[in-house]
Amino acid sequence: MNYNFWFVVGSQFLYGDEVLETVDKRAREMAEKLSEKLPYPLIYKVTAKTNKEIADTIKEANYDDSCIGIITWCHTFSPSKMWINGLSLLQKPYCHLATQYNLGIPGDEIDMDFMNLNQAAHGDREHGFIAARLRMPRKVIAGYWLDEKVHKRLGDWMKVCVGVSVSKNMKVMRFGDNMREVAVTEGDKVETQLKLGWQVNTWAVGDLVKEMDKVTEAEIDALYKVYEENYDINTDNIEAIRYQAREEIAIKKMMDSENCLAFSNTFQDLYGMQQLPGLASQHLMSLGYGYGGEGDWKVAAMTAIMKAMGKNGNGASAFMEDYTYHLVSGSEYSLGAHMLEVCPSLSATKPRIETHHLGIGMNEKDPARLVFDGKEGDAIVVSLIDMGGRMRLVCQDIVCVKPIMEMPNLPVAKVMWRAMPNLLDGVECWITAGGAHHTVLSYDVTAEQMKDFAKIMDIEFVHITKDTTVDSLEKELFLNDLARKLK
Ligand code: MN
Repeated sequence: MNYNFWFVVGSQFLYGDEVLETVDKRAREMAEKLSEKLPYPLIYKVTAKTNKEIADTIKEANYDDSCIGIITWCHTFSPSKMWINGLSLLQKPYCHLATQYNLGIPGDEIDMDFMNLNQAAHGDREHGFIAARLRMPRKVIAGYWLDEKVHKRLGDWMKVCVGVSVSKNMKVMRFGDNMREVAVTEGDKVETQLKLGWQVNTWAVGDLVKEMDKVTEAEIDALYKVYEENYDINTDNIEAIRYQAREEIAIKKMMDSENCLAFSNTFQDLYGMQQLPGLASQHLMSLGYGYGGEGDWKVAAMTAIMKAMGKNGNGASAFMEDYTYHLVSGSEYSLGAHMLEVCPSLSATKPRIETHHLGIGMNEKDPARLVFDGKEGDAIVVSLIDMGGRMRLVCQDIVCVKPIMEMPNLPVAKVMWRAMPNLLDGVECWITAGGAHHTVLSYDVTAEQMKDFAKIMDIEFVHITKDTTVDSLEKELFLNDLARKLK
């Protein structure tokens, strides 16, 4: 999809044709120059002067699938009652760019003509009031339009809108149910579709096995070459790798035929399969598909959405699980991993393909998987949970480190990190908020972006930062609960 954004500039007839022509010319120039700096094109649509012009533009934006957000700005004063009918119809994300065409006040030249033309300072306030009055979710970004910081923030917001668009078109393919008796991987699929747009449906494992039987040796040869190019092969068990290729090709064919961008499976239902897909799921994730283990369709979809929000539309974001702690005082860390399925986009070095016995599940043969250590750097972990009647997105700031010890007998992909505000308070906060053991770990997407995503989707957002305390978090959760009940 060739995503784009629309630039809608507010004005009115009061100032005469000459001012309107200047506004139009400058708005066009700004959209063109900003398009060179932003990750997606900004298309100048209209200098809006009437209620009808605005409503027509918004209706057109709603209808156009390639338009995934609008950016507004008021070069002059633009009386906001004429925006009510249009804005109340808006179904796309909305950003108010509070900027002005000129950088400074030209002391010697400034006169009343200049003031009539350049009055964003009060035009943008009138515009801000009406969105506040309409209780609209929106992003407000203030700053000079040629400033790099403004480009960065606008670009980040645009990527949130990509996440919103991907979410609204999300289809998740489930193979088998979620793991027996597990609570946090459950959720209301009807409510989720209503709020987030996801179509979450099930397909039989037997249908996947039939599809696997149809995969040809030539198809497997081709995918094996891709594995060889991208990974070091550190096993003699070539058949196990080829079996994973067979699984990957079949899963991909089924997903593509249904336009699914994410899938889940469970080790408890591998009927007719010899191996839990490990390498297969990992390589599919590297292509941008979302995955969730143990039937966790929520984390599967969130992985795909956050990958799409990242660098070049497929960033370093991955399905992750909190596994175990290093609780030694002064050197406290979490170790995250999964049985097999962590995306190689997190890897610090070239991943190795290995085969090892996997005791959990119904594996007849040793599954092939990618083994690596995660990169160092700032990241977040994100978990979407169903609180009954509403969704909560829990996000925690973390710092990933090079693992502090060798773990030669742990043949999985793993990441070691320090959670904010510190390991123990961080664990207390996470557990208090109800965050799952499954998360999406991302080096690419920021907490601010996830907050904007939650705002647009109208779901609760909880952010655990270096400044969070258990007390402050408990108070926040209580108030959130109350607010959501009043809504
Ligand atoms: Mn798991």
